[in-house]
Amino acid sequence: MEKVLNYINGEWLEPAVAEYFDVINPATGLVIARTPLSQASAVEAAAQAAAQAFPAWRRTPAQDRVQYLFKLRDLLKANIDEISRAITNESGKTFEEAKAEMVRAIENVEVASGIPMLMKGEISEDIAPGIDEIMLRQPLGVVATIAPFNFPGMIPFWYLPYALATGNTYLVKPSEKVPVTMQIIFRLIDQVGFPQGVVNMVNGAKETVDAILDHPAIRAITFVGSTNVARYIYSRASANGKRVQAQGGAKNPVIILPDADMDMAIRITADSAFGCAGQRCLATSLAITVGEARNDFCEGICDAASGRTVGYGLDSAAQMGAVINAASKTRIEQLIALGASEGASVPVDGRNAVIPGYEGGTFVRPTILADVQPGSEIWKTEIFGPVLSLMHVNTIDDAIALANSHVYGNQASLFTSSGAAARKFRYEVEAGNVGINIGVAAPMAFFPFSGWKDSFFGDLHGQGMDAVEFFTQKKVIVERWPKEWTRKF
Ligand code: NAD
Repeated sequence: MEKVLNYINGEWLEPAVAEYFDVINPATGLVIARTPLSQASAVEAAAQAAAQAFPAWRRTPAQDRVQYLFKLRDLLKANIDEISRAITNESGKTFEEAKAEMVRAIENVEVASGIPMLMKGEISEDIAPGIDEIMLRQPLGVVATIAPFNFPGMIPFWYLPYALATGNTYLVKPSEKVPVTMQIIFRLIDQVGFPQGVVNMVNGAKETVDAILDHPAIRAITFVGSTNVARYIYSRASANGKRVQAQGGAKNPVIILPDADMDMAIRITADSAFGCAGQRCLATSLAITVGEARNDFCEGICDAASGRTVGYGLDSAAQMGAVINAASKTRIEQLIALGASEGASVPVDGRNAVIPGYEGGTFVRPTILADVQPGSEIWKTEIFGPVLSLMHVNTIDDAIALANSHVYGNQASLFTSSGAAARKFRYEVEAGNVGINIGVAAPMAFFPFSGWKDSFFGDLHGQGMDAVEFFTQKKVIVERWPKEWTRKF
């Protein structure tokens, strides 16, 4: 059983708490850790430590700050297997998926290591005779991240490396469902030897989050999670005068045109819909076939769904793991029943899955709902499980209109061999992340992670230059040095 502690001011601390949250291995159903639900006092201690560390960290030259990131990157790489095993054991995904997640985390450390170049300002000489104008980027102070359960290792790294590299001090609150991964990562952060108070971690749930949202020393907040909570975080933290970005939920469509490479479309859509058991914010959850694409795609995707091997993520044969917990399994199975009650057929039904040897696990096998109707509850609702809904229209215009009629706009994909269709789609579709013959259009670390509509609240996004802009404030200086003042030496 892993002991979950807070990390404040360079020290591991056990908070005095009234409640713990049981962390369960979704494959076995066994309790593997208990998350302390920290109260406002722990947030206060972390925010104070970070505020005290800020002046010296800010004055540390950028090229010295990134030396800590180089060391962190090497430690993350050297320990990737141990971290990935922890991700599998607390989130349920396969070891391969966990490792791929950590590769993405490390890439963000690498990109942030370019901060001496990325953070540079601008200067214009002679904006008027003898007057120059300078723009600098300066850090904000103490900044915080509130993370979701589905990428315990990667998502904090959309922010942590950029926040630190730009000279802020930092506080992360991992999801109470998956705290173990960040315990391991913080042991590495401890080895790196950042100055005390520069990087902090507080574990907990709503009470902890509310204390972060209300703390006057915390200047900016990044959040990733469900849309209802994202909306709440955005309004409460911005009402408190903080800079906020809040990434929310999704219901990602893929459109399959008749001229698509059908084998590729089926294989990639299945990977997108059922990879990580559908618990990815970029998972495809609506497949819209156009015209003659319908029969071949539907038959092929049903075969791909029923042929997927489901099991414990550390078993090398497993292609898909468990969903996060029993409440999630029940919710997903109820949503499948709701879809059926609304008139969808269920040609592949993953309910009541039992995996031999893992009878205590919370598994849902890949599921296909066919003939889902626009406007139905199952069409509207983010399922966040391995369930793909099939829909059919006659033209690409109808397909794009259907995709755009959804409140979410995290990702949309198209399968086609037509450049003109691809261009029309990327021009018209209302989503921040777009895939053309790609099922999970996850932006690399040097691009922003750009959800739209109800998938995002804020303006600047995570990763890359957006993160650099988010964690810095611009200062513009206008200077006059009259030439008559020039002394002769
Ligand atoms: P969640 O919203 O339940 O929890 C996210 C975080 O918010 C956790 O740290 C949790 O402790 C905290 N939280 C939960 N309820 C709260 C409340 N009422 N008040 C204050 N804080 C609260 O999300 P989750 O179930 O952990 O993650 C899954 C969701 O995240 C899905 O909706 C998924 O689409 C979304 N997600 C989005 C992205 C993206 O980039 N847009 C990426 C990953 C996940």
